[in-house]
Amino acid sequence: MNIKDKIEELRNTLRAHNHRYYVLDTPTISDYDFDMQLKELQDLEAQHPEFYDASSPSLRVGGAITKNFDTVVHESRMYSLDNSYSKDDLEDWEKRIQRVLGDVLVEFTCELKYDGASISISYEDGKLTQALTRGDGFQGDNVTTNIKTIKSIPLQLKGDYPQKFDIRGEIVLPFEGFAKMNAERIENGDEPYMNPRNTASGSLKLQDSAQVARRPLDCLLYGIVGMQTGITSQFQMLEKAREWGFKVPTVAKLCKSIEEVMAFVAYWDSHRHELPYETDGVVIKVNNLQHQEELGYTSKSPRWAMAYKFKAEQVSTVLHEITYQVGRTGAITPVANLAPVLLAGTTVKRASLHNADQIEKFDIRERDTVFVEKGGEIIPKIIGVDFSKRPTDSKPTIYIQRCPECNTLLERSEGDAKHYCPNYYGCPPQITGRIQHFISRKAMDIEGMGGETVELLFKEGLIRNYADLYRLSKEDVMPLDRMAEKSAENLVSGVKASVTIPFERVLFALGIRFVGETVAKKLAKAYKNIDALMVANIEELVQVDEIGERIAHSVVEFFKNDLNQRIIQDLKSFGVQFELSAEKLENQTEDLKGQTFVISGVFENVSRDDLKKLIEDNGGKVGSSVSSKTTYLVAGDNMGPSKRTKAENLGVAIISEDDFLAMIGPR
Ligand code: AMP
Ligand code: ZN
Repeated sequence: MNIKDKIEELRNTLRAHNHRYYVLDTPTISDYDFDMQLKELQDLEAQHPEFYDASSPSLRVGGAITKNFDTVVHESRMYSLDNSYSKDDLEDWEKRIQRVLGDVLVEFTCELKYDGASISISYEDGKLTQALTRGDGFQGDNVTTNIKTIKSIPLQLKGDYPQKFDIRGEIVLPFEGFAKMNAERIENGDEPYMNPRNTASGSLKLQDSAQVARRPLDCLLYGIVGMQTGITSQFQMLEKAREWGFKVPTVAKLCKSIEEVMAFVAYWDSHRHELPYETDGVVIKVNNLQHQEELGYTSKSPRWAMAYKFKAEQVSTVLHEITYQVGRTGAITPVANLAPVLLAGTTVKRASLHNADQIEKFDIRERDTVFVEKGGEIIPKIIGVDFSKRPTDSKPTIYIQRCPECNTLLERSEGDAKHYCPNYYGCPPQITGRIQHFISRKAMDIEGMGGETVELLFKEGLIRNYADLYRLSKEDVMPLDRMAEKSAENLVSGVKASVTIPFERVLFALGIRFVGETVAKKLAKAYKNIDALMVANIEELVQVDEIGERIAHSVVEFFKNDLNQRIIQDLKSFGVQFELSAEKLENQTEDLKGQTFVISGVFENVSRDDLKKLIEDNGGKVGSSVSSKTTYLVAGDNMGPSKRTKAENLGVAIISEDDFLAMIGPR
């Protein structure tokens, strides 16, 4: 078989596997085998760029960067939907329809209203050519590059598809993937995302498509616009789209009356929590496309469709007690402890009250009957008080003034909604929180130890900080509750093994406020070892790419502290890595020392990240905006015009990617 056919064959096979895995949910090969075939295809494509195809499954991993998303006018407008809330509303709507259409039989297709970000995707000759966000309905953003990384969206269609059409759908982030993303963020010390919908729509506008590719996004399709598709009804449209390879949920139902529609609504109102993604209602559409055309549109929505909104689930229950949680950073969160109540498919016992202002705003008190709602958020929220049920001897809530864990007077800084316990070194949950962060997967990744063990070790007085972990012996931990000999051994050897964890992760593990994974990497690269970092002052620190005043302050504060200095000495004596490895240092020079680069646009031979890395590895600095301190502006394609003007005005040299690569010489 010649190369071209081989490539084509691999593409077709991978396409079919993608479809089975992501659309039909019935994979027939292992992930490993899939990866091997994908690798083979990628290798062949790299060797034979002449057979490039924009619809190749190899492009799913992303990589292209979009600096600015172009605005494009929708060929046909993306309308809103009218809302209805009752059977009466629907019957009125039906009457209006019958008035226009006369005495004909009107059938309805009922679909779910998926809660995500709307998208319009264009296909020509079976290939995906463009994807636009809804925008204002008349024009949207061109997010094609990002959309192509979503595996359930076909890049190449199959079957008897029309030559040219647009298809509309909703980009959603299923609960499971959303929870996974948040678990990772929490482990990293980042704030979790609020809800799947905002995260899905935010994903579409990420500049780095590789990042989009890593998010478990899905696309559910519901409508085709275009000429000569040969389709005559909404229901048939859904079936056809499914045949061509699109993911179209099979819950859609053809209904012959408003009674049947209401049965569909009632069913899904109580069963929607069994679905893997979020829905906020039902969309009812006149089934016959000829009828749809006769009915037409108002200035904002089709007359042939209607949304029926599910009520945000709301229950009332008694608030027994307000308690206060102290986080790793000392932040205080008030928590409402509720009489258990069933809400949106789960039993709710607690709700976050956020902060003192929130409690005051709603005048929430213990023993009140409160209304609890579950929107898209993970944690239910209290949306009000049923004042009619307030006990007559009720007293306003007085927010705590002292830390519930260590009795220290709380602080609240200007502009901060939250109270903090300032007893950083003595407040138990802050201490154990830091140790838990230290052992977590993205930090020291200590196997055989979990958060509860940390609390137990602390309670028993065996550890007071993370350096103490390295002093533990098997004999120390054996007497602990539920600790068998084997697990004690695992714990101790897990701690020992962590001394090989590289410097940048150790730096992250220290739990310096505002120093997340990325910042830790930057600092490790810039300072190469802890001794240099420990003596750095604020002016020097802010020179490092992406390090601002806030982080610099926090770093300086941390290392100024005696206890921290002692802990670091201890960790050093136990063999923990406090400098970049020889291998990491090898490719580093000081050739660009004292020079600051700003990079802008898209590059041909290196990614932006690689370019940054090259600059930093060679002793240069990467700045985020052009200023008098900038030595060079490295200009790629699609560079922002304002950057160029600014560089020209300031007399900053503008160089190309090739100029830059020549500067650092052959590697
Ligand atoms: P709204 O924004 O409330 O006016 O509702 C209109 C939006 O609902 C559309 O832009 C779609 O993105 C979304 N939608 C979700 N599911 C469906 C569906 N099955 N049919 C039509 N629109 C839907
Ligand atoms: Zn405290």
